Amino acid sequence: MTAPPISAVVTGGAGFIGSALVARLLRAPDARVTVYDKLTYAGRLENLAPVAEHPGYRFERGDILDGAHFRRVLEAVRPTVVFHLAAESHVDRSIEDGSQFVRTNVEGTERVLAASLDYFRTLDDAGRSAFRFIHVSTDEVFGTLGPVGAFDEQSPYAPNSPYSASKAASDMLARAYHRTFALPVIVTNCSNNFGPRQFPEKLLPLCLVRALAGQTLPIYGKGEQVRDWLFVEDHVDALLAVAAAAGPGETFCIGGGTELANLEIVRRLCRLLDGIRPRASGEGYADLITFVTDRPGHDFRYAIDNGRIGRVVGWRPRHSFDEALEATIRWYLGNEEWLAPLLGQDAGAGVTSRRGLAPASEAPSVTVGSRQ
Ligand code: NAD
Repeated sequence: MTAPPISAVVTGGAGFIGSALVARLLRAPDARVTVYDKLTYAGRLENLAPVAEHPGYRFERGDILDGAHFRRVLEAVRPTVVFHLAAESHVDRSIEDGSQFVRTNVEGTERVLAASLDYFRTLDDAGRSAFRFIHVSTDEVFGTLGPVGAFDEQSPYAPNSPYSASKAASDMLARAYHRTFALPVIVTNCSNNFGPRQFPEKLLPLCLVRALAGQTLPIYGKGEQVRDWLFVEDHVDALLAVAAAAGPGETFCIGGGTELANLEIVRRLCRLLDGIRPRASGEGYADLITFVTDRPGHDFRYAIDNGRIGRVVGWRPRHSFDEALEATIRWYLGNEEWLAPLLGQDAGAGVTSRRGLAPASEAPSVTVGSRQ
């Protein structure tokens, strides 16, 4: 028996990961996908340009804090799955001011869950057993690791930044809506993503943009913090796999199995750029690297044990890190019109400037965050 065509609502679908997910969902025959997005600074219709003419695509501008609006959208669309990605997602912004993180990530998630529950209760038995709510979260909720070991689904929550604390709270709400109301929720906790259309305040696109402009690449501390990197298309594969095959109430850790220190990933970026677009001066891009005061509360290491998601739904990352990184660099180089409006905002201390360090007089004007 063939599965019925997918009908999805994607919150945060105009963001980095959401837009990759939407494009992939719409590749399935007869798929219908509605993006629900507020279009904050991080959400851009440009990200959805590749699907804008697709007959199954619809965009609804809305705030997840407006639960009544979100419920009306669900009732009109009648989806089989909700992917909840809308969030404030940048750690350094949360250090500067956590209040919007609590509103969007905690209160907003509660309203999305409550509206989804209202809609879920209108479904017949077959509709209820097919429906899934995929809550997309981060490995940062688990806090930091020492030099060995990896996070898995049993890891205790120990968030260290206002961002990760707000995501941890949202995970708890997602869990509670499953336990209390039997809403078929699945929670995913994923490691650092990279790929096309990532907002250039995040490590890789930020370094890329600054390197091309001949600006310094300031690295927090000694650049020793380790992150597990995953190509965004692999994350999308994982989300589709759990939506299709995992049961209600399950949680999954998702990682790329590519652990790299921040300094190393920036060096690899520089090496690739040296080959693709050498500097006119003949110097290597790595000469632009500088070390600056560390981020407060900076987690030392994240790593993910992918065992469970592999066993339960058969997912594993398909892309090699280096090939995906090169493809990502080539995407940015080939899509300067995507970047241009963002860099226009960067006339002073803008998109590619460091956030989250207290006194401006002591802080360098720009630097590189390790994440997200
Ligand atoms: P992003 O910042 O690129 O996109 C966030 C999107 O949410 C934007 O389109 C924005 O307009 C929208 N949004 C924000 N507030 C909203 C609101 N109140 N109502 C409606 N829409 C709103 O983020 P991303 O990197 O694509 O991350 C997506 C999700 O995945 C987030 O929940 C994040 O926590 C999670 N995640 C990200 C990573 C990563 O490495 N980027 C890793 C693991 C998990």
